[in-house]
Amino acid sequence: MTTLLHSLMNGALWVRRERGEIFVGSNPVDQRSGVVAAVKARRERAALKADIRSGKIGALKVLAKAGSTDKAASTLRVSDFLKQLPGLGEVKAAKIQKELEISESKRLGGLGAYQRKRLREYLLSRSDAPQPSPKLVILAGPTAVGKGTVSAYIRQHYPEITISISATTRKPRPGEVDGRDYFFVTHQEFDAMAHAGELLEWAVVHQQNKYGTPKSAVDQMLADGQNVLLEIDLQGARQVIYNSENVLSIFLMPPSWGELVRRLEGRGTEEETERIRRLETAKVEMAAAPEFDYLVVNDEVARAAEEVVDLIRYG
Ligand code: 5GP
Repeated sequence: MTTLLHSLMNGALWVRRERGEIFVGSNPVDQRSGVVAAVKARRERAALKADIRSGKIGALKVLAKAGSTDKAASTLRVSDFLKQLPGLGEVKAAKIQKELEISESKRLGGLGAYQRKRLREYLLSRSDAPQPSPKLVILAGPTAVGKGTVSAYIRQHYPEITISISATTRKPRPGEVDGRDYFFVTHQEFDAMAHAGELLEWAVVHQQNKYGTPKSAVDQMLADGQNVLLEIDLQGARQVIYNSENVLSIFLMPPSWGELVRRLEGRGTEEETERIRRLETAKVEMAAAPEFDYLVVNDEVARAAEEVVDLIRYG
């Protein structure tokens, strides 16, 4: 994974998604390393199949992983995937695959949106489908990757997922509402909350303002059985990952390093030195991706949001 990120950042590699399928591109490599990579991929798929068979990893989780940049899951053939499930031999698996209208050669990462939906519904209809349990979910990622847009989309389209409202010392922007977008507080009020242990995590973001997650609201929502999504920066994400239980952490990735640069620059009016500083920050932030449970490529907001929601439900 570190190699993937490294290559992504120095431009030797790109990640692109087309009709649900992930393409990772790179400059041509010598034949030997191609063979080594193929053997490694086959071994990883074999290990994944064994884990599905033994129940170590749930089928819905594998499907969710296949939507992200998990190579073994996304390159696993649907037929091989189905055959690992309890009660499905070669014949039954083939019959179900036909009923789901998925061609024989399809791989999990190459499913179209409707095929994916049908397969997910089939897995949910099985008696061994897991009961979803409430989770604390972190959505983090580098500056300008589009975390805010993805979480706003989730807030609008998936009301069953609660998004935690942070406290911040930043001033409201036009259109922002106190108690909906943030709890806008003074520095003294923020410090008092932090000292009283009322924040699950907090951090100074962009060397300017303090942001923190009110703890009691999160505890209450989890106790009520709700999934709670935290859209927070990397420093806060690390605090939650290391200090809280039942956490699912998701790192939003840009489709490529070039695209992240474009998104950063597209934001507008920063001076050259500020732009360079932000790019440096983004590089450091990208390197944190392997600390997270899942990577989701934000190539298209609605799709990335759906993938995040799937991970929350079944990951
Ligand atoms: P903005 O000021 O643009 O709304 O947010 C700036 C950054 O603060 C974003 O990266 C956002 O993820 C982060 N952020 C928002 N709320 C919290 C929070 O409660 N804790 C931490 N650590 N970061 C937050």
